[in-house]
Amino acid sequence: MKKIAILGSTGSIGTQTLDVVREQGDIQVVAMAAGRNITLLEKQVREFHPKLVAVWEEKDANALRNNLRDIEVNVVYGMEGLLEVSVIPEAEILVTAIVGMLGIRPTIAAIEAGKDIALANKETLVTAGHLIMPLAARKGVAILPVDSEHSAIFQCLQGKADNKIHKILLTASGGPFRGKKREELSKVQVEDALKHPNWSMGRKITIDSATLVNKGLEVMEAKWLFGVELEQIQVVVHPQSVVHSMVEYADGAVIAQLGTPDMRLPIQYALYYPSRRNLSGEKLDFYQLSNLTFEAPDTETFTGLKLAIQAMKQGGNVPTIFNAANEKAVALFLNRKISFLEIPEIIGESMENIQYIQQPDVDKILETEAETYAFIESRW
Ligand code: NDP
Repeated sequence: MKKIAILGSTGSIGTQTLDVVREQGDIQVVAMAAGRNITLLEKQVREFHPKLVAVWEEKDANALRNNLRDIEVNVVYGMEGLLEVSVIPEAEILVTAIVGMLGIRPTIAAIEAGKDIALANKETLVTAGHLIMPLAARKGVAILPVDSEHSAIFQCLQGKADNKIHKILLTASGGPFRGKKREELSKVQVEDALKHPNWSMGRKITIDSATLVNKGLEVMEAKWLFGVELEQIQVVVHPQSVVHSMVEYADGAVIAQLGTPDMRLPIQYALYYPSRRNLSGEKLDFYQLSNLTFEAPDTETFTGLKLAIQAMKQGGNVPTIFNAANEKAVALFLNRKISFLEIPEIIGESMENIQYIQQPDVDKILETEAETYAFIESRW
């Protein structure tokens, strides 16, 4: 039986990971961590019987421990708790499905402990890819992408032998506001931005899809995961989300991965790589695929993507500033404190104002995050 640990078991990726575990029946979840949703976490513990669970706050740990007193499980909390879950000796794979830079230390600890990483938490690579990828290589652990586009690219690379990637074609749905111009975007509401046309995801990443910031984060993630130059990554808007991404080789051959929009596929592929298992649910019906379209992204309207590429080119702590500013701006937007178009404005201003650091270590990355938050709090 394969043994795994999950960070963020109560979230969108976490619960779908557990769907895969439930359906396949031959994976044991030895540890899980969540933030505040102890009601769902309790249900998960009763169903999957991990030996260790972590929550963020001590009071939630106490409440959960009390609710689970009829079950043998160790309940821990805080960053220490997250780290314990990440390095639990029994697990072979850690699924990183928490949001934000909180994932950096646990991911590094798990790699140090020799665990393969099924990586959903893209923010860790965006901000600390320069630390994580060399460490993973040194430790001989695999970073298995869970993000659907990166899983698609990873799948397109199977059988590549010694051939180099010529180009990565990273597809984007374009989000709910594709085709709209700035004037129309100035008045959009939270509810409009939360309506993703194809994928059902957590709130923060859904807003990131609407601003195209998510695609920017994914460009950075792809650069680290696949070791290519920024110029080799081309974003292609494909509103039907059937082609999940493509790789072009030197001879012009393009290999694509297609499928229905179902996150369980990339999750399952990461957990069982290189094997493929059955997956319930709809399969593609090619008689219905009469209209697959592709276009260039509108980076004049959706400046988030342009800023992401600028951040990656500048390097150092600028991707961290980009990511932290976006997190704060999205939270402000979700709380109806700023407008949709102010999200990229805040990111741009933060990138201009926070001090540049060339080779940030984990402490400097987290200091940059705090500094960016403080900068935004002082202004908005
Ligand atoms: P969700 O918001 O749905 O879930 C986040 C998870 O993180 C929850 O389980 C939450 O716990 C947990 N969490 C939050 N704060 C803490 C904390 N302090 N300590 C421990 N756990 C915490 O996010 P998603 O599942 O959508 O996204 C997770 C990651 O995967 C992100 O990095 C995202 O970019 C990436 N991703 C997501 C995709 C998707 O389809 N959703 C697709 C590709 C990548 P609780 O709810 O209990 O507070």
